[in-house]
Amino acid sequence: MENILFVASECTPFVKTGGLADVIGSLPQALQTNEKVDVRVILPLYDEIGEEWQNQMTYYTSFNVEFGWRNHEVSIYTLTRQSIEYYFISNEYYFTRKGIYGYYDDGERFVFFSHAVIEALQHLDFVPDILHAHDWQAGIAVALAKIKQPIAHMKTVFTIHNIRYQGVMPLDTFANFFQLPDEHIAGMEWGGMLNCLKSGLFHADKITTVSPGYAEEIKHPHYSEGLESLLIERDDDLVGVLNGIDIRDYNPLTDPAIPVHYRSSRVKKRENKVLLQEKVGLPIDADKPLYTIITRLVEQKGLHLVQHIIHSFLEEDVQLIILGTGDPEFEHFFAEAARIHPNKLVTMLTFDEDLARQLYAAADFFIMPSQFEPCGLAQLIALQYKTVPIVRETGGLKDTVQAFNEVTGEGNGFSFTNYNAHDLLTVLDYSLTIYRQREHWLKLSQNVNKSRFSWDDSAHEYATLYRELAESNLTTEHV
Ligand code: ADP
Repeated sequence: MENILFVASECTPFVKTGGLADVIGSLPQALQTNEKVDVRVILPLYDEIGEEWQNQMTYYTSFNVEFGWRNHEVSIYTLTRQSIEYYFISNEYYFTRKGIYGYYDDGERFVFFSHAVIEALQHLDFVPDILHAHDWQAGIAVALAKIKQPIAHMKTVFTIHNIRYQGVMPLDTFANFFQLPDEHIAGMEWGGMLNCLKSGLFHADKITTVSPGYAEEIKHPHYSEGLESLLIERDDDLVGVLNGIDIRDYNPLTDPAIPVHYRSSRVKKRENKVLLQEKVGLPIDADKPLYTIITRLVEQKGLHLVQHIIHSFLEEDVQLIILGTGDPEFEHFFAEAARIHPNKLVTMLTFDEDLARQLYAAADFFIMPSQFEPCGLAQLIALQYKTVPIVRETGGLKDTVQAFNEVTGEGNGFSFTNYNAHDLLTVLDYSLTIYRQREHWLKLSQNVNKSRFSWDDSAHEYATLYRELAESNLTTEHV
């Protein structure tokens, strides 16, 4: 049985800004239950983590960490939930703040976190065979694991959840934190800057990303955010493993956040629609097609396309609810659009899990026209709530949504290829046509009901990867 330590910056149900939290909050359970590996998770202890969780934590140990000119006290708290043990790294200076990201010193905060994780290995009664680090916030942990070798046999896996965010800072700033010999800097530097994501990619024994489609895309300059040469170099160690979702948690039959539970009944789903229309102040009409967008309001999510066509689309007899927070440009635009179309569009500028679940349950369609999408969980959650996804064919969206074909009756959603607003409008109009053709709509709904994206297969792929890495260790030890 391998011991695996996940290193990440967010995790449901403690703290979440996006899909990374969903993955860290569900993959360990799937690995532990199905694959019999011992997975533990180490996270920063943010102030943002609610009291209901902090009250359940127990103090584990404290130690001091040298970091630049400061000597920091770090405490570790633990909590066991659904048989997974979580370690929380507490440091008042870096993590006792409102929110979790968005500070001028985010780079420094997560370099510190990564450093503290490596130091913590000396204090835990758990010896990982594999350190599995996620995204740039944990990239330096992989580099330090290789450079400092805190546990001689420990191997590393680094997962890219989004290559756009790299954690970049001046080399001089980084040099203030550590006195690393020059020879180590080359593996951490990119374009004359310290790059946390690159550090992870360079040093990890294996690299994974969250869908096979994205694993291919990121080797091309259009998607690689400047890192294609490194990824091509490391191609033999790069694999795409499709994310799953926790289908016990995202389950419309039991979800406590939704008013009317259902398995696949369209009638019950429409009851959720009516209740939501009432709640948000839209005209109440169970027949009216309801579209939704639930997302971080950032360029990546294809919102410029939505901006271009929203007024044309709302000329149709439809309703649209947008839930999200993010760039002020989008927040202002969609709030203003809702004022222009009060009976058709509602914009809710908030991050609210329960509301998101009510929307997934109530809507007929889920719009996700991303510019790029490493995997995308929102479309999987939508399918789980029997809501038809409308996506752009990129990354994980392409791997999980198959366009409906009237002739063959195959497909679980709608899609378009080019990043073009009118292609989005055309596919939205087409979705409306299918919605109104009873026979096609029924067939599409049946296909949606059959879509399954649990963790089972992917957890097995990760477990196989861990085993191969651990075994490669044994073979080299015997040479
Ligand atoms: P990303 O990780 O790029 O944000 P994903 O589709 O992988 O995109 O995951 C997004 C997750 O965040 C989903 O669980 C989605 O429901 C959730 N989410 C996004 N915006 C909001 C919001 N405003 N309120 C509640 N949940 C949200």
